[in-house]
Amino acid sequence: MKSKPHVPILPLTWRFLRRIGRYKATLALTILIVACAGAAKAGQIYLVKPVIDGLSELSGEQDLEFLKLIAAIALGLCGALFLFGYLQDVYTNFLTKRVVADLRNDVTEHLSHLPLGFHYGRRSGDLLSRVTNDINVMEPAANFYFDDALVHPFAILFALGIAFKANWILAVGVVVFVPLYLIPLTMIGRRLRRARKRSLESLGDMTQTMMQTFSGIKIVKAFGMEDEQVREFRETNESFFKKLMSAVRRKALSENLAHLFVGLGIVIMLVGGGFLLASDMMTAGDMVVFATAVAMMNTSIREVAKSWNRLIEASTGCERVFELLDIPRDTEPDGTKEVTSIDGGISFERVSFQYDSQPVLKDIDLAVRPGDVVALVGRSGAGKSTLCDLICRFYRPTSGRILVGSLDLAHVRLRSWLKHVAIVTQETFLFNTSILENLRFGRPDATLEEVERAAQAANIHEFIKGLPRGYETVVGERGAKLSGGERQRIAIARAILRNPDVLILDEATSALDAENERLVQDALANLIRAGGQRRITLVIAHRLSTVRDADRIVVLDEGRVAEVGRHEELVSRDGLYAALYKTQFAS
Ligand code: ADP
Repeated sequence: MKSKPHVPILPLTWRFLRRIGRYKATLALTILIVACAGAAKAGQIYLVKPVIDGLSELSGEQDLEFLKLIAAIALGLCGALFLFGYLQDVYTNFLTKRVVADLRNDVTEHLSHLPLGFHYGRRSGDLLSRVTNDINVMEPAANFYFDDALVHPFAILFALGIAFKANWILAVGVVVFVPLYLIPLTMIGRRLRRARKRSLESLGDMTQTMMQTFSGIKIVKAFGMEDEQVREFRETNESFFKKLMSAVRRKALSENLAHLFVGLGIVIMLVGGGFLLASDMMTAGDMVVFATAVAMMNTSIREVAKSWNRLIEASTGCERVFELLDIPRDTEPDGTKEVTSIDGGISFERVSFQYDSQPVLKDIDLAVRPGDVVALVGRSGAGKSTLCDLICRFYRPTSGRILVGSLDLAHVRLRSWLKHVAIVTQETFLFNTSILENLRFGRPDATLEEVERAAQAANIHEFIKGLPRGYETVVGERGAKLSGGERQRIAIARAILRNPDVLILDEATSALDAENERLVQDALANLIRAGGQRRITLVIAHRLSTVRDADRIVVLDEGRVAEVGRHEELVSRDGLYAALYKTQFAS
């Protein structure tokens, strides 16, 4: 990512503020509460003055009455401060946490609607790190906008108000320092952001070095490179530490700068105040009120400065999240049509496709009718999976069109089309939940009886029944607690249960033992047979039994249809299929 010299705080602020739209009323109420809390605090401070200045002029009876009044006001103020302070904490936190929660929802929603090309074009680690780490740094930023930047300006204004009321000459002297203080604060802030960014980049390097060492640990050990790897890690770690410390120093400098400036203010106050007191231009009460007001300002300015620094540190992460939200979704053009039936079959008309610059599919013409079982074969990289991805409209053809009946797939409502489709992929993905829920993924309303029937057809019912918790067994992340064959049969059962009009099946090539292979093969045969005359089945075939039973075999070669026919025909033709048959299927 290119480094930007300036802190793009303005656009960031705008984006944060826009997110408050839905909560405008809450924001208005919060501002009112913050103002009340600030006023109560200022009142408390100001109450010292009448006690110090007023009591000296009163005597006896009057003293008591006066003190009673002061006590009543002070009690009232502390009650108000309790109430408004409580509300202030709740409401500012509500706004902060609400905005972050909404962002989290939006990012997840947006990511799941981004085109598949986006997900496959990116290292998934990078994506996950964005979502988890960067969303977390949104919180300090939101905290600045909806908490500190609301609360402290009010506190500072009230403190200024009473300072001016106590003595305006002294107050002017102190106020001069505030803008002077802001100049170095912004300058250091800019450098802090750069230092922070450098340290984050070097954190990335470090994580990568560590990941590499451990993901390739076998090679590292085999080549005796442990020390070398550790040295490299140590170097990146030290570099990270140095950069981090540079950020720390800048942060500490900026936060403690307040001491310097407020300290200068105090000098003015002491000297000027002393002079004014001596020449009777100010009372002792005013002096105390003034000093307390300056202390209150000091606290608030320091808090805002700290919060501002946290915002600066978070700004890179925030920018990245907003960048993610700016990536356009895969939108459907207006006037899309519903797919209601697949009676007209699927046809490819001169379909070509490329991911980047390299053509992957070239001029494919292919028509498939309901009831057809089509086996796609070809060398690895021939374009079989891509062809299936186009049918799911994960990608759109670069030229040519795919028709569903008479509808161009490019112009149908995707959801209405995918309702008819089920895919069984090579890497069987199971969610970390119960087997039952995994099976019901494609048809949440299926009855338990239907689920069991599907599991029986997929040769997995007996196995599930044998588990201590049966269908309620949780399968573990990515189905890790199950063997490859069991996972495949669950995925097959899932497809049987869904009973789709179009089935896309990628036969796994993973080596299974003979027993598992037989079970999976039977399950696949049941799945394919279950389609009857209604279903279109496309199989990326790796098994002899599948190609033998297919109505048609389509042989792809470097993105073109090289041969089409039944098994016996193609074997006797002695072309590409015959060659593939000898190497791939005959075993
Ligand atoms: P097959 O399923 O026949 O093995 P694929 O359809 O997976 O072939 O791949 C066809 C070609 O497209 C290959 O050269 C592959 O490298 C390329 N390819 C596949 N997926 C992508 C992708 N997401 N981005 C760029 N190229 C890809």
